[in-house]
Amino acid sequence: MLAGDMAVDEIEGWLRERDADRLEELWSRADAVRRAAVGDAVHLRGLIEISNHCVRRCAYCGLNAGNRTLARYRMTQDEILGCVRQARGFGYGTIVLQGGEDPGITGPWLAEVLRLMEQEGPFAITLSLGERSIEDLRLWREAGADRYLLRFETSDRGLYEAVHPPVAGSLSDRLAMLGGLRRLGYEVGSGVMVGIPGQGYRSLAKDIALFRELDLDMVGVGPYLPHPATALGRGEVVRAIEPAEQVPNDADMAYKVVALTRLVCPEANIPATTALATADPQMGRRLGLERGANVIMPDLTPSKYRRAYEIYPAKAGSTQTPEECHETVLATIRAAGRTVGIGPGSRGR
Ligand code: SAH
Repeated sequence: MLAGDMAVDEIEGWLRERDADRLEELWSRADAVRRAAVGDAVHLRGLIEISNHCVRRCAYCGLNAGNRTLARYRMTQDEILGCVRQARGFGYGTIVLQGGEDPGITGPWLAEVLRLMEQEGPFAITLSLGERSIEDLRLWREAGADRYLLRFETSDRGLYEAVHPPVAGSLSDRLAMLGGLRRLGYEVGSGVMVGIPGQGYRSLAKDIALFRELDLDMVGVGPYLPHPATALGRGEVVRAIEPAEQVPNDADMAYKVVALTRLVCPEANIPATTALATADPQMGRRLGLERGANVIMPDLTPSKYRRAYEIYPAKAGSTQTPEECHETVLATIRAAGRTVGIGPGSRGR
């Protein structure tokens, strides 16, 4: 059977697998598919966390609007362009602008930033700003944005609604938005958290099968990490589940999801995420690269802001400068015996 044809049952079986020898087989299959489909280059995407304002009340995320203890910031256009120049100095071919769902980032304001960024050199530009209107998305696409990251977080509708409540009256339908992004000509990325309280094995297996069905260009996955200023972090039960069915939120489970994602989406760009590096500070990024991933997103956010972009606590790199982050990432790529990708590193088809 071709890897890409793996059925939900088989995916679930791998998620439940505990035998070390069998798991070695999974890692080596994922690594072989990665090498054959996307090669040895690790593409670097410079991440700029442009705002931590957010109108949503997600039960998992520290930026949720109910968190009154967080000092909020929004970067200026000049500050963003400063980071972009630094990215050029580091040789990054892609810039990612990420933030909370912030109406203070207006359509025209960001369109202007995008046009100014274009003048700074050839970059692919990725946005990750949550659920925005189709008008804003069109404006940004026309102003030079190439890609959009929007995780669907979980394909279990009940769990999704419990952890990601809608804002005043508007339905949150991330799958519909992914379709809209595709029609606008964006490269489209999505993904899930691994081990959300209430997430069972079957549901996670279906998430992975959905990655394939959506034919995603990019897939980001990482362990769910509790934040004390959130409903889930305070231990509120949003979804009762049999303890034996609950997916653990540890690095080992996240590696399985990275590996299975590579098997079902051979050509996708898959990052070794910061959440993985947070759950396993010594080996997270490296093992991510060795078990299917081919992308790293070094953090370029200025030191004075990065601690305030606290989607979860003790985020890997949150006490580093952009230079230190860059050096750490290069060392990880060398240790994994891989090379640094040149150019935008778009999905090949
Ligand atoms: N506001 C944007 C970007 C959010 S941050 C959006 O909603 O799309 C990017 C991702 O971080 C989220 O999609 C989520 O999957 C992940 N994330 C948020 N809180 C987290 C937590 N507590 N633990 C692990 N990952 C988390």
